[in-house]
Amino acid sequence: SNGLMAGKRGLIMGLANDKSIAWGIAKALSDAGAELAFSYQGEALKKRVVPLAEQLGSKIVLPCDVGDEGSIDMLFDTLGQEWDGLDFVVHAIGFSDKTELRGRYVDTTRGNFQMTMDISVYSFTAVMQRAEKLMQNGGSAITLTYYGAERIMPHYNVMGVAKAALEASVRYMAEDLGKDGIRVNAISAGPIKTLAASGIGDFRYIMKWNEYNSPLRRNVSIDDVGGSALYLLSDLSNGVTGETHHVDSGYHIVGMKAVDAPDI
Ligand code: NAD
Repeated sequence: SNGLMAGKRGLIMGLANDKSIAWGIAKALSDAGAELAFSYQGEALKKRVVPLAEQLGSKIVLPCDVGDEGSIDMLFDTLGQEWDGLDFVVHAIGFSDKTELRGRYVDTTRGNFQMTMDISVYSFTAVMQRAEKLMQNGGSAITLTYYGAERIMPHYNVMGVAKAALEASVRYMAEDLGKDGIRVNAISAGPIKTLAASGIGDFRYIMKWNEYNSPLRRNVSIDDVGGSALYLLSDLSNGVTGETHHVDSGYHIVGMKAVDAPDI
């Protein structure tokens, strides 16, 4: 343990299994001495999340469907009874109908557009409304976004539109909550093979493209994201808010790569 998070308590939302980005983040925070609580989406995930939480010594594991206001209230009511304060929140949640994570963006249906925005964007705002009340000594929150918010990526479609809105909501919340010492940031992660990512068309091709075309010439791991999350959730980043921090092997800075072979 490096002790960076000693004495800090936080909530991890979006753990599904040991491939989840939330797991990489939770491990880094726990290693640094943080005390963690977890929320899971539904009964089916409970049996996966409980043993993972136990591995990190966490005793608080609660259900929460972020599509339901009452469910979010329940989570934070219980958390407020267990803990006398909250220092950080990790929002690692997104969802869209996978039949629309292929084909054309322009064909997105109204129903899936609304659902995608609700679960992938509004939920972070809804969570911060409750978290703010428990963060009496200031705090730090992060969400997860993707480069498809900024530039066209194949098949990302409505999720790209949602991530753009999520990044904008991070900036507005950074301003609203900044006067109370609460920081709000996003990590824009490169492609990682997770349950959510498996719904995106041609995902293997997207991973290969990122590997070949990023400055570091490799894909990122959930532990890479965990390291950057630790920075954003600890006092090391006390002067940072409203930021979208790319953890993508540098892919987002590239316009065009030179050919590595000298004779072309
Ligand atoms: P994951 O499938 O492990 O996690 C997604 C989580 O969202 C799951 O735990 C799921 O239960 C939760 N979720 C979905 N709907 C929910 C609801 N209604 N209520 C509560 N929870 C709900 O996949 P992941 O890749 O670790 O995704 C985490 C975040 O990272 C997402 O926001 C995703 O868009 C983002 N992201 C992923 C990648 C990638 O390549 N994997 C890249 C950049 C950003």
